[in-house]
Amino acid sequence: MSQPTIDMHIHFGAPPDEESGCYWSKDFEQTAAYYAMLLLTKSLFKKVDIHRVKKHLIKVINTSKQVDKSVLLALDEVYDSNGQVHKEWSHLHVPNKYLAQLASENERVMFGASVHPYRNDWEEELDYCLKHHAVLCKWIPSSQMIDPTHEKCIPFYKKLAQHNLPLLCHAGPEYAIPTSNNRYNEFNNPRYMRHALDQGVTVIIAHCALPYFWFLDNDYQDDFREFLKLFKEVEQHDWKLYADISALTGPLRADYIDDLIDKIPQERFLFGSDYPIPLSEISYNRSTHFFKWLWFVLKMFFEKNPLDKNYDIVHKMGFHDKVYTNASALFAAINSKKQ
Ligand SMILES: [Zn+2]
Repeated sequence: MSQPTIDMHIHFGAPPDEESGCYWSKDFEQTAAYYAMLLLTKSLFKKVDIHRVKKHLIKVINTSKQVDKSVLLALDEVYDSNGQVHKEWSHLHVPNKYLAQLASENERVMFGASVHPYRNDWEEELDYCLKHHAVLCKWIPSSQMIDPTHEKCIPFYKKLAQHNLPLLCHAGPEYAIPTSNNRYNEFNNPRYMRHALDQGVTVIIAHCALPYFWFLDNDYQDDFREFLKLFKEVEQHDWKLYADISALTGPLRADYIDDLIDKIPQERFLFGSDYPIPLSEISYNRSTHFFKWLWFVLKMFFEKNPLDKNYDIVHKMGFHDKVYTNASALFAAINSKKQ
């Protein structure tokens, strides 16, 4: 069989649920991401619960015609540097255990783990995730209040490198999951990934560190510049550096696509959607003919499966065919055995 197409960036999230341990905060219920979740799970006038979210996501994943496998992402709680958990600072929590179970029940779902490096039991948790076939570890430095240069991260990086478990780190602005301390927004800048890269960690920079609102995202222009700088140095340092192209769809990110395709080697891109974050039918598109462009936009409006829609739009942007399957080789290199 040829390599599977993998969407390596899909979020899970649910209101407080005792059995799974999932929860989101009152602050999360003020975000656009929350309303997107209600809309997509048809829960605007009903109570949203974990069963509706799960049913919806599994249906989307199982009915996709383009995407063979999807990585569902866990999200760990906030820990302080003493290793103390802070539920009151955490705005979205999806336990590893819950997603490991979900992935074990469905062969099209892959387990995207999340372990906070300040946890006192981080090694035990990471071992659990490796044993249950995690394909990556996800961080959102702003929301999880992680300083990637903190000394507590060094043994964590060593372990990730030993096992070849990729670190998928959010970069650029984060509007979906709030932070309890704005000082941590700074740590979404890819420049803080240098420590991990120097330790030999496979690092995946989410969303190519793009600003969300184009030049209006004033505070985040530097993130993209630093992202390009890292890729310029990649050969020199022999870094295992990758970029995910999730959430690239949208009129305000169109301006960056040519630059990305020109400057980053195609074998370093990983395909993803960032679903259920909404995507836009009107995105960067190589058609120079207006009617061809319009035809495509209309076709996208009628495409029902959001993963397929994202695939088609990204395809139209002109990325190489290998970006859809690049994640396969990366995930096959993971060494799950205890060391
Ligand atoms: Zn995301």
